[in-house]
Amino acid sequence: MKNSRLKPRVITAIKSWQRLRSSLPSNQTVGFVPTLGNLHQGHASLLRKARDNNDFCVLSIFVNPTQFNDPNDYLLYPKTIEQDIRIAMDLGIDYIFLPESKAMYADEYNYKVQENNISQILEGKYRPQHFEGVLTIVLKLFSLIKPHRAYFGEKDFQQLSLIQGMVEAFFMDIEIIPCQTIRHQSGLAMSSRNSRLSQTALAKSYLLAKYLSSGKSLFEIKAALERAGFQVEYLEKWKSRLHAAVYLDNVRLIDNVLL
Ligand code: AMP
Repeated sequence: MKNSRLKPRVITAIKSWQRLRSSLPSNQTVGFVPTLGNLHQGHASLLRKARDNNDFCVLSIFVNPTQFNDPNDYLLYPKTIEQDIRIAMDLGIDYIFLPESKAMYADEYNYKVQENNISQILEGKYRPQHFEGVLTIVLKLFSLIKPHRAYFGEKDFQQLSLIQGMVEAFFMDIEIIPCQTIRHQSGLAMSSRNSRLSQTALAKSYLLAKYLSSGKSLFEIKAALERAGFQVEYLEKWKSRLHAAVYLDNVRLIDNVLL
């Protein structure tokens, strides 16, 4: 394994990163995994792919304020930088980019990427301006990291589709690599927000994936989820997948399964 257990270099200043990036050999590839941090095995699966299939692997950790439509969700978002650095170190990641919000939004968010179709359905319907924030930060990060390949999870399938669309629309020379959803043994999709579930909620959280993949009608799935104490925000078929957002214990969970 390349660079295994070498301390990854942590870069916080944009200028330092830009200097470092321009020093990397132009004939070597850079694989990139953007995250909000609080790394788990889902993130690790993307990082392993980026590490194994490129000369350099870059992880970014940035809790992007513009993609949080709920200020409370932003404040409560778990931040575990020390632990994340250790995980990245164990995985043999080369660079961790850890920028500050002020630096990423020196333009005070006056420039934005707007998509007018896919961003309005599913998540977009319930999280106004969420995808504007996501696409804008991903564009900024792509411009800085200059990756050859970028890795995104199917756990956030709508986000993945929007990023593929943006890369096509703006003729970006970046290969977007979709990565399958990593789940706990119970079937629950791994997510940083799972840590906010109480023990009782955690014990029944597996029912979400179970009912989504049950093959039953949307009506039956919704009824079963509600009987189990989930509040269903949406449950819809899109692009051969069944997508859902639910609240359990005031924690918002999303998941999707292939039909
Ligand atoms: P986040 O930190 O939640 O923004 O996630 C960063 C990246 O990891 C995104 O591309 C997510 O889709 C991906 N990801 C998050 N959870 C999982 C999971 N359980 N399985 C696979 N990929 C995931």
